[in-house]
Amino acid sequence: MDTIPFNSISIILRSLDFAAKRHRSQFRKGEEKTPFVNHPIQVANLLANEGGEADPVLLSAAVLHDVIEDTVETVEDRNDLIAEIREIFGDEILSLTLEVTDDKTLVKEERKRMQIEHGPGRSDRAKKLKIADKITNIRDLMYYPPAGWQRSRIIAYFDWSEQVVAGLRGVNAKLDNLFDAELRNARSMYRADS
Ligand code: ZN
Repeated sequence: MDTIPFNSISIILRSLDFAAKRHRSQFRKGEEKTPFVNHPIQVANLLANEGGEADPVLLSAAVLHDVIEDTVETVEDRNDLIAEIREIFGDEILSLTLEVTDDKTLVKEERKRMQIEHGPGRSDRAKKLKIADKITNIRDLMYYPPAGWQRSRIIAYFDWSEQVVAGLRGVNAKLDNLFDAELRNARSMYRADS
C-alpha cells in the first residue's frame, strides 16, 4: 500500500469527527433511519475506493459537504460555522465545501435548477464531489427509499440527477461510468416494479 502523508490522514479523521458531531442528531430520510453522517462518509469512501481519488482536500470536503447546508438555520450560526471550518480546515477545504452547498434562501425548485445550470462552471473537485453525491443518493433510493416517496417522485429524481451530472462529466472517467451504471440499474429496478 502507498504511504499516505500523515497530514492527509489527520485532516480526513478530523473532518469525520467534525461531521459526526455536527450531524449527531440527524437521520437519513429512508425507513432504515440510518444516522445522517453515514451519507457523507459514503460519498468520501466512494471517491477514494471506487473513484481512485486520494486528494485529502477533496476527501475532507466530501465528509463535510452537507454540514453547512444541513446543520445551521440562521445567518449568524452559518457565519460562525464557516469561521470554524476555516480555522480548523483552512480556506481550500472551506471554499470547496461552500461550492457544493446549495443556497437555502432559494426555494427548492430554484435550487434544483441552479444545480443543473452551475455544474459546468464548477471546479474539477466540486464536479467529482457532486457526481459521487448523486451516485450515493441513487443507491440509497434503490435500497432505502424514503418513506412516502411515490415511484414517480423517485423516477423524477433519477431524471434530474442525469441532467445535473451531464454538466459535471469529464473529470474522472470511473465516476462517470459508475454514475451511468447505477442510473441504468436504478431505472431498470423501477421499471421492473411497475
Ligand atoms: Zn450529499
